[in-house]
Amino acid sequence: MSTTTDTSKSADTKQKSALITGITGQDGSYLTELLLGKGYKVYGVVRRSSTENFERIGHLTDRVELIQADLLDQSSLVKALETARPREVYNLAAQSFVPTSWGQPVLTGEFTALGVTRILEAVRAVDPGIRFYQASSSEMFGRVLEVPQKETTPFYPRSPYGVAKVYGHFITVNYRESYDLFAVSGILFNHESPRRGLEFVTRKVSDGVARIKLGLARELRMGNLESRRDWGFAGDYVDAMWRMLQQDAPDDFVVATGETHSVRELVEVAFGRVGLDYREYVVEDPAFIRPAEVDLLIGDPAKAREKLGWTPETSFRELVHAMVDADLARLTARGGAGVVK
Ligand code: NDP
Ligand code: GDP
Repeated sequence: MSTTTDTSKSADTKQKSALITGITGQDGSYLTELLLGKGYKVYGVVRRSSTENFERIGHLTDRVELIQADLLDQSSLVKALETARPREVYNLAAQSFVPTSWGQPVLTGEFTALGVTRILEAVRAVDPGIRFYQASSSEMFGRVLEVPQKETTPFYPRSPYGVAKVYGHFITVNYRESYDLFAVSGILFNHESPRRGLEFVTRKVSDGVARIKLGLARELRMGNLESRRDWGFAGDYVDAMWRMLQQDAPDDFVVATGETHSVRELVEVAFGRVGLDYREYVVEDPAFIRPAEVDLLIGDPAKAREKLGWTPETSFRELVHAMVDADLARLTARGGAGVVK
């Protein structure tokens, strides 16, 4: 890894450059691969921690420049932009797990809501010509007011996370309108991968299925099996982010598959992948029921298809199978049935 505070790097070079906040996250890792493949110089913002957290970008750290900064610290963001002088900024950093947002609502607001204003202010101060992407979320639709959800559907968030994302969305729109920034909001529906955090439902299920198959666990404790999501593959979705910043004019887009599946279908497909019947292993546990639920999400990606030329390439079934296969391979490599849980 190379961490830099060198301010001599500049945008003078013709090479396209991007700064990614949240580079250590699921989307940050896929976006970095995409941009490196397109010849970008990539800078990543990482926050200080007592141990390195580069599990998802370990294979990329010799090809990117990591800069220490934090969404909670305005001056660190200004310095990061002065160091990198990027053409594009992708603001992916957030407290992104919905249940944690009830336990830590103020912190979620600081990171996920006000953090967006801090980085937009840094953009204004350092280079208003920067193209800015904000990672907005289908959680903003919450108790949905329209089916399917599109760019014009009103928001009705159902968690402190959703509320914080609504703030992030509108401050992005407001800075575009107030200061003429090229600032866009991608309203992305749930997107998953083998790199998804273990607490999110798809990864919890793929990991749980692999553990049960390998004899490391006997049951999988779950919350609401009836809620429905529009799940896509993260690798497909980062391409939509990039396309949004290549448009002639800034605009907001829904990014979704247009299909919805229940959590019950998810467990059925995942257990089916290894020849098991989910009804023998899944235990419904009230501990995973949320104070307020988002029952149904299904996006309408028509605008992204028409204006960005974007379509998802991975089906729900392919995605779930790939995640189960990856967790089986990972746990088997670690020693399979010999692994301590
Ligand atoms: P992850 O949770 O995997 O990654 C979040 C990233 O944010 C991590 O790199 C984390 O760093 C970083 N981060 C958190 N707090 C701070 C902070 N104070 N300062 C700097 N960095 C910070 O999220 P995803 O990759 O799944 O999602 C990317 C973005 O897209 C998020 O904003 C998320 O809310 C949004 N989104 C995601 C969807 C999805 O389905 N995945 C759907 C719609 C929107 P660290 O590694 O140090 O914790
Ligand atoms: P979210 O849409 O951002 O909240 O993504 P999650 O993957 O965390 O949750 C998706 C849906 O799965 C929600 O409706 C949850 O209530 C539901 N769900 C059911 N059981 C679980 C579980 O054990 N963990 C999680 N994370 N979600 C669960």
